[in-house]
Amino acid sequence: MAITDLDRYRQMVTVMDTPLTALKGVGPKVFARFEKKGLRTIGDALAYLPYRYEDRTTIKPLNELIPGEAATFKGVLKRLEVRGYRKRRVLEGLLVDERGSLQLKWFRGNFEWLLKKYKEGEELIGYGAVGVFAGRKEVVHPELELVEEDYSASETDPVIPVYSEVEGVHQRQLRRIMKQAVESGAKARAALVPPKAQALSGLDPRWWDSPGRIWRELHFPSKGGEDLQKIVTGCRHVAVLEEFFLLQVALLLKKSGDESVGGVRHSPTYTLVKKLLASLDYELTGAQRRVLSEIRSDMEKPSPMHRLLQGDVGSGKTLVALNSALLAVEGGYQAALMAPTEVLAEQHFKNISALLSGLPVNVKLLTGSTSASERESILGDLATGDIDLLVGTHALIVEDVSFSRLGLIVVDEQHRFGVMQRVKLAEKGRTGELPDTLVMTATPIPRSLSMTVYGDLDLSVIDEMPPGRRPVATKIIKERGRKAVFEFVREEAKKGRQAYVVCPLVEESEKVELKAAVETAEYFAREVFLDLNVGLLHGRMRGAEKAEALEAFASGKTQVLVSTTVIEVGIDVPNATVMLVEHAERFGLSQLHQLRGRVGRGGNESWCFLLAGANVSEDGWQRLRVMEDTNDGFRISEEDLRIRGPGDMLGTRQSGLPDFQIGNILRDGPLLEVARRMAHAVLDDDPSLGSQPNLVIKWVVERRWSSKLSLLYSG
Ligand code: ADP
Ligand code: MG
Repeated sequence: MAITDLDRYRQMVTVMDTPLTALKGVGPKVFARFEKKGLRTIGDALAYLPYRYEDRTTIKPLNELIPGEAATFKGVLKRLEVRGYRKRRVLEGLLVDERGSLQLKWFRGNFEWLLKKYKEGEELIGYGAVGVFAGRKEVVHPELELVEEDYSASETDPVIPVYSEVEGVHQRQLRRIMKQAVESGAKARAALVPPKAQALSGLDPRWWDSPGRIWRELHFPSKGGEDLQKIVTGCRHVAVLEEFFLLQVALLLKKSGDESVGGVRHSPTYTLVKKLLASLDYELTGAQRRVLSEIRSDMEKPSPMHRLLQGDVGSGKTLVALNSALLAVEGGYQAALMAPTEVLAEQHFKNISALLSGLPVNVKLLTGSTSASERESILGDLATGDIDLLVGTHALIVEDVSFSRLGLIVVDEQHRFGVMQRVKLAEKGRTGELPDTLVMTATPIPRSLSMTVYGDLDLSVIDEMPPGRRPVATKIIKERGRKAVFEFVREEAKKGRQAYVVCPLVEESEKVELKAAVETAEYFAREVFLDLNVGLLHGRMRGAEKAEALEAFASGKTQVLVSTTVIEVGIDVPNATVMLVEHAERFGLSQLHQLRGRVGRGGNESWCFLLAGANVSEDGWQRLRVMEDTNDGFRISEEDLRIRGPGDMLGTRQSGLPDFQIGNILRDGPLLEVARRMAHAVLDDDPSLGSQPNLVIKWVVERRWSSKLSLLYSG
């Protein structure tokens, strides 16, 4: 009887889901220890790759060890004793072979335990960085094993895997268990990447021949010496590509699933859009026109739009969003614009209201500060369809808000929202009709990230600034330069310009942050800028206070605006020419870039001063220097990703970032694109993966990603 796809799949799942307790040597106690590490099943164990390998084929005689290099060594323990006393105690050992000797040293640790464990005359194998002390080679805090113990586990293996520690489980025991897990796991692994996709992988087809071998080699490489690196790198490449391929398949499936639900088919009349454009005293940039036509063509299609609009700070995304909203409104639909903060929502509302004055478009603002009666009337008008465009914060997604004909959702600064919030807003459409979604971001999302989190979004990029923009000159200032900078601010103010001062980010406490802003503002008003008007803006102010503070700055009445990071996004005062950031080292680079984008908007020469605290690390300086070096948001965000990691960049946990078992989006970023092409190749022929050999892929994908993807997406 032929083996069907279903058999293959069932067998694989059964093996992968087998609890580790099925293995020899794993009783309830040991299992509990593995479980603490998140390792419960054979499948988990298979993905628990060694963090390094001990190559037994290249063990050097002790006299050939090279100082400064990490090495595996072997010898007989000649001596092991404690020297010195009290706090100065050192455990010293001497390892010898026929050709030489090596000192072993411990400054901390449980000496008694080590003394009991390793006896003089025993043969040991070890690993560590070789150093030199008083002319003799030594290894401090070596990893050690008895040769006998170890060889009894894996007598013939030329290369021994070293796994990250499972507390309470000895490496030798761990290896023995892993060996069993890998054997049964590897055997059950079905080939999941079809030949057509393999062909696009850029790898020799032989790499794809046997998925089981890949996993066996990753854990217990068959060759040491020069081949080791080649084998392990190649196998890892295959495993990562397979993992990325499955994710990309999942994302593409999800997308086509959404499309089949059916979205709004907009039929714009251009009446409103034309009027708006005619009323501006400037032209759209080429890039704005291009992305608008991409958006329009999506909106005119019956499938729901999922588009990411990426453009650097100040590139004119708001205008694009407004134009898109008008396309929806013209055709009889409603649009919603959701901003991450109240300040930003208010700012959008103000700008948009001004731009739309004279046009028959009913715009309303709904935030947490909207009064109860106002809110009630807004909800009523939304339901009847009297409101065309609703601007707001997450107040928009509260249960009782419902639209009559929601056709377009614009989400500003997506990276600050939880994924769930995006989902909820999409559900506000009429049943059976998914509204179009436009997600805007100023933090350029490195390709590798957008391929994972946003792998299912189409991308439009505004890669051109409105004319007259100048790069903002950026300078790191040390404490002693503070006075000069204040003087500079004063001179700019005398010339009729304005400045922002951003108070340090205090991660632990919003209260402390607030206090810093309030005190700084007072201090400035009283002692530094007696001759200027100093204003204050922070997130805890009431709506009306905030509006007043913003208004005073926008009108030029306030010359120096002290604030917390609430101004990070969206505030637009072209007359401001100086951005001064206190304790700049506490901010992420993308955040600093956002802040810097608040100036240089009015065609005047502008400056950003990054005040560095007293104890900035060398890393910190290097980071800040990136800001001095470039105004390119893309480079900055890549750097941020490298330094802070992906979770942080998108606001950890809520990012909806898939967690990979093998792949690492920092290291393996370019492979995501390869994997996407591979996924396309398969889905182009078989869009629902319904045909025989592809069914397994579909089942595996559903099992692995479906619960995560329903979060990633509306639908
Ligand atoms: P973003 O949201 O991308 O950071 P904004 O939409 O806030 O940028 O635009 C920044 C400023 O540029 C606004 O004052 C806006 O009116 C102006 N602006 C937008 N498009 C153009 C254009 N094509 N030409 C000149 N100024 C523009
Ligand atoms: Mg904006």
